Amino acid sequence: MGWVLRLVGTGIDGQCRSFDVMEINRPEGLGDIVNLGLTLAEAKQLLARVQQDVVAAQADNHAVLRPNCQSCGGRCHVKDWRRHRIATLFGEVRVRLPRFLCAGCGCAETGVTWPSHCRSTPELDGLQARLSALMTYRVAADVLVHLLPIDAGKSPETLRGHTLQVGERLGSAAAVQPAAAASAITVSLDSTFIRGREEGERHLEVRVGNVETAGGGRQVFAAVTKSSTDITALIRRNLQTVGRTDDAEVTAFTDGCPGLRSVLADAGVTKPPILDWFHIAMRLQHATRAAGGLSTDEPGRAQAKAVIVAEVDRLRWRIWNGKATNAQRSIDRIRKAMHVFRGEHGHRTTGVPSRKLWHALHEVDGYLCSQSNWLVNYAKRYRAGLRVGTSVTEGTANFLVNRRMNKSQQMRWSRRGADLLLQVRCAVYNGTLGSGFGHTFQPYAVPEPVFSRAP
Ligand SMILES: [Zn+2]
Repeated sequence: MGWVLRLVGTGIDGQCRSFDVMEINRPEGLGDIVNLGLTLAEAKQLLARVQQDVVAAQADNHAVLRPNCQSCGGRCHVKDWRRHRIATLFGEVRVRLPRFLCAGCGCAETGVTWPSHCRSTPELDGLQARLSALMTYRVAADVLVHLLPIDAGKSPETLRGHTLQVGERLGSAAAVQPAAAASAITVSLDSTFIRGREEGERHLEVRVGNVETAGGGRQVFAAVTKSSTDITALIRRNLQTVGRTDDAEVTAFTDGCPGLRSVLADAGVTKPPILDWFHIAMRLQHATRAAGGLSTDEPGRAQAKAVIVAEVDRLRWRIWNGKATNAQRSIDRIRKAMHVFRGEHGHRTTGVPSRKLWHALHEVDGYLCSQSNWLVNYAKRYRAGLRVGTSVTEGTANFLVNRRMNKSQQMRWSRRGADLLLQVRCAVYNGTLGSGFGHTFQPYAVPEPVFSRAP
């Protein structure tokens, strides 16, 4: 059995024009499931042909329109024709577009608001960017070509180019106007590393964070250091997007890095940031684990281990309850009890527990000394239902950076490429690449030309 698929155009002049798009043939009966319905190949062919016919009709329609001159308002006439090849989601299309000349003043008009270098539709660029943000350029290119009748601009290099362009536009986009003002905002800032491509830049530092409101508003942001993205402007914009007002209370969290603190200060976060509990807890966890591994091969050691385990626990309690000034007492007590472990034998692979404990304590001690100004009473905050840390940010770093950019050890990044891809990834995560995508694609401040029909 067979069908002819026909596209019927209903013009404004009341005339109908129809095009036979394609023939579809199937064997009689449903003996074999592979014959059920359309195949992917047919669907791609169908989309490509409908696209060709629709675009051809649009071009014909456009060709009879004449813009009014933007200088004198006079009628324009056709000067010459230009051929354009445009890549679309449904295949490459070719259109012949007139360029116009004003009969009155001689001004030239293009008749379209497209930039003259335009080679693809925003929708194609947008989908390429979205997929490239989630998977490697090569895989994204394969997926697109597999599913859609894309026949131009399908190389991974093209996808990379388009994605970075989208990233650039996102970087210069204005803040989205918030629906509601936020009185309390939490901002967290952290850093992570990716592998650099250039010699002498083996590691690129990525700053990543998020802003959150009590009402559930959330935005993530990221930027590679020393790239064109200004992290302080980015934070300001994100605060604005979630509805920061002049009297909003902004609470910041960071790890101990002074660089991150100054970024927050520059971004207008006036209250000193709180040291993230996550970072303290991680260091305490090392100490707890090392204490738990101490040997109990002699009665003296068993006794000392019990004291140490209890004291490490107390150390955690002290810091959690904002009594970090007393933490030194716990550390001293533990060190004093450790002498009985001198000469302790370690496991072949995991090392000597007492030596690990010593190192872990040294870490905690050093961290507390350098960060004492940024510690708070975490227990009190926690009981009040306030945030004590940003394990969320760790998740954010993982989503934004590691999952796309660190997974494969062979992946190396240029500063610009990594930074712009991150802008796209953030937009995907924030949901601003989909609905708000249109406005990032109209950076050309050219008014739509006014047309009248040619006689
Ligand atoms: Zn004119």
